[in-house]
Amino acid sequence: MTDIVWFKRDLRVSDHEPLHKASTQNKIIPLYIVESDFWKQPDISDRHYKFLTDSLYDLNSSLQDLGQGLIIRVGDAEQIFSELIEEYAVENIWSHEETWNNWTYQRDIKLRKLFNKKNVKWKEMQVNGVFRGLNDRKSWSRMFYQEMAKTPYGRPERLCSVNIKSEKLPSVNDLNIKSIECPFIQIGGERKAHHVMNSFLSSRSYDYSKNISSPLYSHETCSRLSTYLAFGNVSLKQIFYYTKYATDNFKANKENINMMNLRSINAFKSRLRWRSHFIQKLEDQPSIESQNLHEAYNSIRDGAFNEDLYHAWREGQTGFPLVDACMRSLIKTGWINFRMRAMLVSFASNNLWLDWRKFAHHLSNIFTDYEPGIHYSQIQMQSGTTGINTIRIYNPIKQSNDQDKDGVFIKRWVKELQDCPIEHIHEPWKCKIKEFKYPSPIVDETETRKLASSQLYSIKSKIRYSETTKKILKRHVS
Ligand SMILES: Cc1cc2nc3c(=O)[nH]c(=O)nc-3n(C[C@H](O)[C@H](O)[C@H](O)COP(=O)(O)OP(=O)(O)OC[C@H]3O[C@@H](n4cnc5c(N)ncnc54)[C@H](O)[C@@H]3O)c2cc1C
Repeated sequence: MTDIVWFKRDLRVSDHEPLHKASTQNKIIPLYIVESDFWKQPDISDRHYKFLTDSLYDLNSSLQDLGQGLIIRVGDAEQIFSELIEEYAVENIWSHEETWNNWTYQRDIKLRKLFNKKNVKWKEMQVNGVFRGLNDRKSWSRMFYQEMAKTPYGRPERLCSVNIKSEKLPSVNDLNIKSIECPFIQIGGERKAHHVMNSFLSSRSYDYSKNISSPLYSHETCSRLSTYLAFGNVSLKQIFYYTKYATDNFKANKENINMMNLRSINAFKSRLRWRSHFIQKLEDQPSIESQNLHEAYNSIRDGAFNEDLYHAWREGQTGFPLVDACMRSLIKTGWINFRMRAMLVSFASNNLWLDWRKFAHHLSNIFTDYEPGIHYSQIQMQSGTTGINTIRIYNPIKQSNDQDKDGVFIKRWVKELQDCPIEHIHEPWKCKIKEFKYPSPIVDETETRKLASSQLYSIKSKIRYSETTKKILKRHVS
């Protein structure tokens, strides 16, 4: 008898419950399927594939060390599983539960039918503190912390080798994946994830809280674990475990470790919890990927989508230096900090009055750490369409003064402003002594902000105590 361990967004060998459990029972085929249709989806780009391939090479090398390398198959999951089940008399398919986009959701529904038809058991396991089938959020927090307090699984001791050939990984061109050049992309893989986690816990975290919103320093002082988590190169439980280990050590040997700031570590741990909190929302309500959480906002931006404004925003040509610097940097590095993401979305949704459903894919394409559960929930929050969150409209000029006072980040990414005097770097259109080859602001910031604010608040005040609002609160707030 042979079982399959199906790797999905859990590309690691340690703390991998399905791999750990399956390897103690039957012979296993460790399988990754490069699903051709998945890579054609509009929310995905070649930077995700690049990170995936790093992760798969690393995973293959770890699995080979254990006795059986990774088996790659390319094509349609239903067909591939049908063939493997027949050929190897497969009894069980082991995997983690996956909460991802609508395409993966629909694919899993089809596979469940196939496995039932073929009499194969699909042993899906809960992961990262996201739970299937919750009716409300009453117990979520307790369940989450219980999960995170568990000791991570070690890597399996040995895997029996199976006589099966692996396919070659296709290229970006073979799969026809949308390509957006990203010269400074992070390198993927389980080993790299642990290296990044260790460097964060041992030193980089010190100024985490202080620099969390700085576009200049946060590249270094934020954990930078989001992409490793998105591809499952490390589990959330492992990060909690090693954070506790480092903190306990620090408390016990204060004089030896002087590079830990407990305030920063606590702030970091809360964000780890937010991660699962947001993914749980998508698990409970998959429609948030494409529909407003609160229906009262459904037609608020109807007919207002202005293509020129959208293109200026996505290309970093809005005339607002910090907005443009962030967008240009994000395109080239695949990452920007939380506040700058929020500002980019707030600017598009509120100042440019664009419907988030028409620009969310541009951001998912360029965030290497794209994680649908966080992505769509956050975009909706920043666009004011949830009906339950505080409405926040970021003023990009204030953010520029607060977060990049000396304009160093702006000058790094907006070369046209290289010679702009510091006193004008946040509002170069006010400089009378020089002209720059840089656009004038595409909208009046104050006017558009006030208009957006009045429209969003007028709906919010009407729906505050509505039945729909109550239902959303019950379902999504713990
Ligand atoms: C509009 C918008 C879209 C976003 N889209 C994504 C996305 O697709 N993928 C993604 O991982 N994060 C997303 N975030 C959340 C956040 O910006 C990133 O998680 C964070 O910047 C990643 O950097 P880091 O790993 O250094 O985070 P750290 O600050 O070091 O935090 C540690 C971990 O906590 C989690 N986390 C941190 N902040 C948040 C948050 N606000 N909400 C939920 N989880 C959080 C992440 O997993 C992160 O890796 C989005 C935020 C906004 C405003």
